[in-house]
Amino acid sequence: MTKELRSLPESDLLFGESPALQRVIAIFDAAARVVDLDENIAVRLRRPDKVVIASLPIRHDNGAVKVYTGFRVQHSHALGPYKGGIRYHPDVDLGEVCALAMLMTWKCATMNLPLGGGKGGVRVDPLQLSTSEKEQLTRRYTAEMGPVIGPEKDIPAPDMGTDEYTMAWIMDTYSQRSGQFTPEVVTGKPVDTGGSVLRREATGRGVVYTIEEAAREIGLSLKGATVSIHGFGNVGTHAAHTIAQRGAKIIAIADVSGGYVNTRGIDVDTALSHLTRHRTLESCALGDRIAADDVLTVPCDILIPAATGHVITEKNAAKVRCKILGEGANGPTMPEADTILERNGVFTVPDIVCNAGGVIVSYFEWVQGGMNFFWTEDEIDSRLQGLLRAGFQRALALAKERKVTLRTAALANGIQRVERAMRLRGMYG
Ligand code: NAD
Repeated sequence: MTKELRSLPESDLLFGESPALQRVIAIFDAAARVVDLDENIAVRLRRPDKVVIASLPIRHDNGAVKVYTGFRVQHSHALGPYKGGIRYHPDVDLGEVCALAMLMTWKCATMNLPLGGGKGGVRVDPLQLSTSEKEQLTRRYTAEMGPVIGPEKDIPAPDMGTDEYTMAWIMDTYSQRSGQFTPEVVTGKPVDTGGSVLRREATGRGVVYTIEEAAREIGLSLKGATVSIHGFGNVGTHAAHTIAQRGAKIIAIADVSGGYVNTRGIDVDTALSHLTRHRTLESCALGDRIAADDVLTVPCDILIPAATGHVITEKNAAKVRCKILGEGANGPTMPEADTILERNGVFTVPDIVCNAGGVIVSYFEWVQGGMNFFWTEDEIDSRLQGLLRAGFQRALALAKERKVTLRTAALANGIQRVERAMRLRGMYG
């Protein structure tokens, strides 16, 4: 080992200087200070429990074999089995997956779920894969991760670039290999293969439920409010649909192909039907064409980042002009940007609260799969609202009491739950 490498902290040796990981550790440290977290516990929680890296060879439709890299990171199982999505994206790296696994620990904990935090990813551009290539990749990923996932061990779910069909392939591959039907190994499956009603819509709908709580707090009516949405996949489309139903006007949207702005309002159904036919929003007559990232700085009442992480940075934060920032995406705001937004009076609903609807209904799907007894849409929606709104209010109460941001308060609530479980279990606490 070279001298330079020896002088690096161990986390840097493993993950490099990942901005995603640095951001999560920075916000963890800020919240840990609020609850006076014992450094002996903090030192453990800055690292994941386990990391698996696998080479995933697949034969492309043109006959060539290409090898992709897949990751699964298990951060903490103090509160229950690891839980977290699998992301297919060309920028996926170990540091980012690790950061997202840590976020899942705090998200499950702050929402009072009996689950720990994990995350998976494959470094690939899913738009460049045919359906059969994507299926092969998913089955190979499942085969490689088979020993570490399972209904009582680690339960994956969809994230960027993966969807309910991906989850059906994982469930099928895992069930074939274990010799028994195991729907609870993943959540976010199609309803016909043991999925839960409302899981598909849950994250986007939950984003709007938490924005409603924030709007009530600052006295903003959603009726007539203007909305910009960055990212128009699972989370962005369902958030758009739900917020439009409440009378809000969507004035800007973007996906990977670019953005549109239209102050008269963008019709969500037109955008959705274009997406179904063309996979992206390219060449859709929705309004004036702008760069995708410019959607983040269009003046509006409510901004919903629902694509990749760290899109709001020190560079563009001062130009973000919204009253509420609802973080549909994981980690869209860098810590330096957070300070600028706070100074400018933006009410930020942090990712671990704002997009927690997905893991809440995933938890319901896991419970229903284990019982083979399925709830109605109304039951799920009312339980989702109950957990999500209560989690928001617990964070808001601590934020007011300790005069900290909602992000720090939500993390602090989650950290305290994990700390209590670690002490009671007595595992190296
Ligand atoms: P998705 O793959 O369904 O959609 C992603 C969207 O982002 C697509 O419209 C894509 O075109 C767009 N996009 C990608 N790169 C972009 C870029 N550079 N600029 C603008 N747009 C870009 O993914 P999703 O499931 O909707 O997840 C979106 C975000 O929400 C991610 O950060 C994910 O971690 C988070 N999230 C998802 C869930 C869930 O249940 N799906 C739950 C919690 C959090």
